[in-house]
Amino acid sequence: MKLEFLGVRNFFTKKDYHNNLLIDDHILIDCGFTAARSLSDTGRDFSTVDALFITHTHADHIGGLEECAFFNRYLNGGSRPRLYLPETLIPDLWDHSLSGSLADAASGTPGIDDYFDVHPVADAFDIDGLHFDLIPTKHIPDKYCCGFRLNDRIYFSGDTVFDRAMILANGKDSEIIYHEVEFGGGIVHTLLDDLLSLPEEIREKTWLMHYDDAYAAHEARAVKAGFQWARSHTPYEFA
Ligand SMILES: [Zn+2]
Ligand SMILES: [Zn+2]
Repeated sequence: MKLEFLGVRNFFTKKDYHNNLLIDDHILIDCGFTAARSLSDTGRDFSTVDALFITHTHADHIGGLEECAFFNRYLNGGSRPRLYLPETLIPDLWDHSLSGSLADAASGTPGIDDYFDVHPVADAFDIDGLHFDLIPTKHIPDKYCCGFRLNDRIYFSGDTVFDRAMILANGKDSEIIYHEVEFGGGIVHTLLDDLLSLPEEIREKTWLMHYDDAYAAHEARAVKAGFQWARSHTPYEFA
């Protein structure tokens, strides 16, 4: 298994790309509005992505789907990538986000199925032999968001407020934890100060992601506590 972040930064990044994770070079976890640029900057395009999973409907996680859809339909032979997502997200994704642009009955593309091979998923599902267990998170009140465990080995937090019990429950038997972080506010995200309160054995296998462009002021404090920083375009291989 190969993991490569197309980006590791938060919504507002101007220096990197959104926190989107490419698995085995073709399965993309979240597709923000910088995903196409991240692929392009490394000599690729959306033809490399044949399956996507979406954790929630903020634009740093779905803002690239419109380009992905148009690219595949008009520049990639009309292919329809597989789109895996919790069924509860579909109305917000299509009715309130994508359809304003993509719904085009006159061109024969009135619905989401005209662009994507949609796979609504429940709590657990497989993509090409990889097993995902979804972990709903507390990110925005009354809006669905999730993280997941991958193959019982990797815990990916998704966007979430700090939830010690969730981290301990899902992290203790994971080899590696990817957790989001921010440095101020803490209303819908997880503060570094809170992550610093985790047990050492958890901190030492946690890689921080979804961080602000101004992270350098916090880098030494996190590293001293055992955390590592996820980096864009740095493939990580799992035997
Ligand atoms: Zn979010
Ligand atoms: Zn986000």
